[in-house]
Amino acid sequence: MNERMIRIRGARSNNLRSVDLDVPRGALTVFAGVSGSGKSSLVFDTIAAEAGAQVNETYPPFLRNRLPKWTRPEADELSGLSPVVVIDQRRLGGNARSTVGTVTDAWTYLRLLYSRIGTPHLGESNRFSFNDPAGMCPACSGLGEAVAIDTGRFLDPDRSLRQNAILLPGFAEGGYWNAKYTDIGTFDPDKPLREWTEDERTALLFGGAHADRLPVPPPADYESLVSWFERIYLRTGDNISDQKQKAIDRFTRSGTCAECGGDRLNAEARAVTVHGRTIAELALMEIAELAVLVETIEDPSVAPVAAALAERLHALDAIGLGYLHLGRGTTTLSGGESQRIKTVKHLGSSLIEMLYIFDEPTVGLHPHDVDAMTGLLGRLRDKGNTVLVVEHDPAVMAAADRIVEIGPGAGAAGGRVVFEGTYGELREADTPTAQALARRAPATTAPRRGRDTLTVKGADRNNLRDVTVDLPTGVLTVLTGVAGSGKSSLAAELVDQHGAIVVDQRPVGAGRRSTPITYTGIAAPIRKLFAKASGLPAKYFSANSEGGCPDCKGLGTVYTDLAFMDGQETVCETCGGRRFTEETLRHRVDGLTVADVDDLTITDALQRLAEPAIRRGLRDLDRVGLGYLRLGQPLSTLSGGECQRVKIARELRDADEPSLYVLDEPTTGLHLRDVDTLVDVLDRLVEAGHTVVVIEHHLDVIRRADWVVDLGPGAGRHGGRVLYEGPVAGLRGTATAAALGRP
Ligand code: ADP
Ligand code: ADP
Ligand code: ZN
Ligand code: ZN
Repeated sequence: MNERMIRIRGARSNNLRSVDLDVPRGALTVFAGVSGSGKSSLVFDTIAAEAGAQVNETYPPFLRNRLPKWTRPEADELSGLSPVVVIDQRRLGGNARSTVGTVTDAWTYLRLLYSRIGTPHLGESNRFSFNDPAGMCPACSGLGEAVAIDTGRFLDPDRSLRQNAILLPGFAEGGYWNAKYTDIGTFDPDKPLREWTEDERTALLFGGAHADRLPVPPPADYESLVSWFERIYLRTGDNISDQKQKAIDRFTRSGTCAECGGDRLNAEARAVTVHGRTIAELALMEIAELAVLVETIEDPSVAPVAAALAERLHALDAIGLGYLHLGRGTTTLSGGESQRIKTVKHLGSSLIEMLYIFDEPTVGLHPHDVDAMTGLLGRLRDKGNTVLVVEHDPAVMAAADRIVEIGPGAGAAGGRVVFEGTYGELREADTPTAQALARRAPATTAPRRGRDTLTVKGADRNNLRDVTVDLPTGVLTVLTGVAGSGKSSLAAELVDQHGAIVVDQRPVGAGRRSTPITYTGIAAPIRKLFAKASGLPAKYFSANSEGGCPDCKGLGTVYTDLAFMDGQETVCETCGGRRFTEETLRHRVDGLTVADVDDLTITDALQRLAEPAIRRGLRDLDRVGLGYLRLGQPLSTLSGGECQRVKIARELRDADEPSLYVLDEPTTGLHLRDVDTLVDVLDRLVEAGHTVVVIEHHLDVIRRADWVVDLGPGAGRHGGRVLYEGPVAGLRGTATAAALGRP
């Protein structure tokens, strides 16, 4: 056996067709292939899952419970693996306490610096930690933000108490709370609030001395609306219901903490300086500038700390994140930014012989920034690690030692290794990826003309420099520019100024059991089809009605509660996961049982189920390139890009009035071949009269745009300007133009 290889034999997870493959260790390998071909099934569900499971087995059971759970893959042999680190685009924690500084450890070094050489000398480094009581601002507990009640939204001044002037939940007409204030005798229940005295209004909202000055003071146990709101909504436990959270969002505003001004630290920590600057000032500096500043610190007592900090900052800058500042909350970072930060973190690690797996690391990166990313991947390999990357970007393929293409098609038409070799060899091959590389979309030569214009005026959000642009309506506009140049900020401003349908990559808002069948509303037509063929009532073909397996109630799985461990979900033994009773499964339509229908892909279903209602429901999902999904596949298993395409499909069907659509990187996760299909879909929206604005780096999308707005020239403070607006043919002299091969 060759130890320099990861050896895979007979891998069969999801659609994989007993894949045999040797992947070189210590090399950078890219996995390519059309969407749904099986790249993730091989790289994540097989290689990463086995590596993760093997490492977990080396830990005692009580620790295993705390580790990520890996499902053992279906394969005959998997060997030559190392401990695995998966670097995906999941955003960096939803924790308000983590910042770019804390997750990269740069803040730890800064704290050390300040504790050693700061003036006045304070001592321990946790005095500069906003996550430690010793350093945190007492007013906001180190969050930098405080929730303030927005009483301006409590009342409708044009109505009286009897007309429900109090807008808080629970105060509707005839409601318990409403009566309490209406009948108190202190306030005139029929007078619109506008006509009340200032004292009366203040008494209603805040109580206190104002209330006692009124002609009929309220009783001693009177509770003002603000104390009521605090008691019901703000002083509750951790488990806040969605409904409560909505009320909180509606009647409060979170703003910068007045005590620390957002610096998160207490007064003592905020006063300490190094070279005349406070740590809070450094937290607001751009990383690129901070790196230069740190190099000027020459005090020998902190030389190793300053050197380590400078190295970390330079690495962030090199990967195109120099425009961020250490104080930036990680919850506000994009998926691509989060992924690059995770990458830098691992570069700083001294572990070797690891297995690093990346999921589309170029998401959110302008071609100009892709080089920096491939450079990082190469450095990770050069440190002695094995790097596997699932990626569609030709630039990353070109930088790889080896490419493996899975395919040729999606779902059942994929699942095989169709190519192994170098990029040069791929260009000579005859695979879907090679074909797509050979035939890139030509630039639009006859752009559509706008009907009218939408003006975004004086946009100054984040780094935008008082930007005003005219966007033509009824065409496809692409916002381009290097990462951090201000594209998302401009899109947000457009949405604010004009209102828009934002088609994002958040999970499709549907229940855990939701599938393409339930989502498209074709469950009833499918049942009808079986009812017609069998002569039985339709309910016998519903898994959560008469037709469902009685033991698992049509879920296909049973949940077992284990006293001391996490509960476990296992396949139901009675129905073997097929969800239906044997009786139900005896009936067939076109040779298929109702359970077989769940296993059809959307494309197959369109060919086999002729019923118009079913075809109508599925057609749009097929059109956006999701034909490879199985009808019964839980929507919760979809990636961000897939969720976005499900939403585009919904819009294709629903939209009637001309609307403004805004999309952020709809090509995420798409193979070159599918990008064309996606632009066709966007074109269809435009042809239906809509205005479509997309943030995109994909050159094939930019080439096909009617109108381009190019932002830059750099990121952060160095960006935020419009470099070009017009048809793509006129784009010259910018980083985007260069990527398009223009002078
Ligand atoms: P790729 O990564 O190349 O886009 P995947 O490996 O995600 O492809 O998917 C390959 C096939 O397996 C597709 O047909 C997909 O629908 C199916 N598949 C992926 N994950 C699951 C899952 N959790 N359950 C059932 N089918 C799945
Ligand atoms: P792009 O979409 O071109 O990558 P963005 O509009 O996301 O750029 O960012 C432009 C600038 O604004 C960057 O410097 C970024 O760090 C900053 N920025 C973006 N969102 C926020 C935020 N929520 N808080 C603070 N700064 C932000
Ligand atoms: Zn504070
Ligand atoms: Zn069952």
